[in-house]
Amino acid sequence: MSKQQQAFVAWLATVKQIWCLEGLKGELEWQMATTDHQHPGEYFASKTAEISGRQQVLWRSEEFRADALRLLANPGDLSEMQMGIIRATLRESQLPRTLPMKLVRQTVHAGMVGQSAWEEAGKDGRRTMEHLGGHLKKIVELQRMKGLAADPDDPYAGLARTQEPGLPSTKWLLDILEDLHRDLQPLVEEAVAFPDLGEIPALNKPHEANAFRLFTMGCLNRMGLEVDKLEIAQSSHPFCAPIAAPDDVRISIPLEYEKWWRLLLPGLHEAAHARYEQGFLPEWKYTPGARPASTGLHESIARFYECRVGRSLPFLELMLDMMGDMFPELKEWSPEKLYSALNRCTRQTVRVQADELTYNSHILLRVRIYQELIEGRLEVEDFSARWNELSLHYLGVEPESDALGCLRDPHPFMGIGYYGTYGIGNMVAAMFWREIEGVHPNIEVEIRKGNFEGLNRWLQTNIFCKGGVSTGFQLVEDVLGRPVGPYDLIQVMREHVAQLNRAY
Ligand SMILES: [Zn+2]
Repeated sequence: MSKQQQAFVAWLATVKQIWCLEGLKGELEWQMATTDHQHPGEYFASKTAEISGRQQVLWRSEEFRADALRLLANPGDLSEMQMGIIRATLRESQLPRTLPMKLVRQTVHAGMVGQSAWEEAGKDGRRTMEHLGGHLKKIVELQRMKGLAADPDDPYAGLARTQEPGLPSTKWLLDILEDLHRDLQPLVEEAVAFPDLGEIPALNKPHEANAFRLFTMGCLNRMGLEVDKLEIAQSSHPFCAPIAAPDDVRISIPLEYEKWWRLLLPGLHEAAHARYEQGFLPEWKYTPGARPASTGLHESIARFYECRVGRSLPFLELMLDMMGDMFPELKEWSPEKLYSALNRCTRQTVRVQADELTYNSHILLRVRIYQELIEGRLEVEDFSARWNELSLHYLGVEPESDALGCLRDPHPFMGIGYYGTYGIGNMVAAMFWREIEGVHPNIEVEIRKGNFEGLNRWLQTNIFCKGGVSTGFQLVEDVLGRPVGPYDLIQVMREHVAQLNRAY
């Protein structure tokens, strides 16, 4: 082994420690959300804060940084991947190096306690500002300090870049989301006027949870999502926990869902998140080589399988064949009717139940209001009223309660700055779809036949195996030759509405 390789391996040991600790934090979060424990939020919060402190000590080590810079200056026989890992690590270390240690611990601690309070409040109908407002106020204060430390001129972007490195600015994100909202409005107007076919009886009946689970997992496996390699648990909100990717990746979905398709679609979404992590190269475990390029890219994969595949007409044709035994009533339904019912466009306030046409407007609302909170232009006391005002403006409807409006999602309790990644993910998913259509012109026929190989292979070779050495923005531009933007999503949505129109 050359001298440079030896130096790299020695330096990489610290990188592996940092990301192994991240896996431990994920393990705690997994326990908190999926096990029937009796611990208060404080139990998980103090441990997680302690681990974050330990990580920060490693990030801030001058020796660690100097070794990285030395390797970059004199690469010798280091490979492209090794150089990419060094650059990605230096990029990732920027924020932890500037943040005060105390702030890191406090932010992590308040987030975990808040998340647990949100979870508990859901069990006894107390998702109210009166009950959760104090947690939110504390989180916003701490996140504001963190955002200002990251970017004094644009604190929301400072926070958002922890998920989406390379994000130009909050204005860039809001402008794109406003463009999308404006361009999709005529399509929303058209689609909400389509007749309501009513509920699909067979998909709406309460079913035995375990039969659903087996059926859903069978479908996902058939799509090449390899759920047999996953640990699958049950929690109140669906999520994916990459504990030690690509070997140990887990998903959790609310298995008590009564409506079948509300189990399949979140299952698809989370299994796709997991498939991305399972596609990393094992030799780079606990390094940026086996980490996602960005959260937006992660969401793009999840939304790709959920929307471009799962809600599509060819996929539903395939599903109708597969579902016949389990739901004989469905035999009376045509694929077109099922497609229209599952893609029904409605004005409602719950993001996770949103159709594709209105989904981005839910994201726009959130990015705008959290930017206002982080910039100190909005007080937590006025959060609910402002939310309802923006909801009416962007979604055309006000929530009936805070539990269905400003307190519906757990995200703000986990940290602020995440939401934009859903918007970026939706745009990138449409861009990937366009690209795959170009490479595999028969992709819809393949999906109808249950052949997902071409699609899965494209994602594996172009995206998954590259890990997180580039930012999401850079990876998209390298692979597709054009920057992240809304154009493809608008086109895909136009075709979607035309297809819905034909389906009725
Ligand atoms: Zn997701």
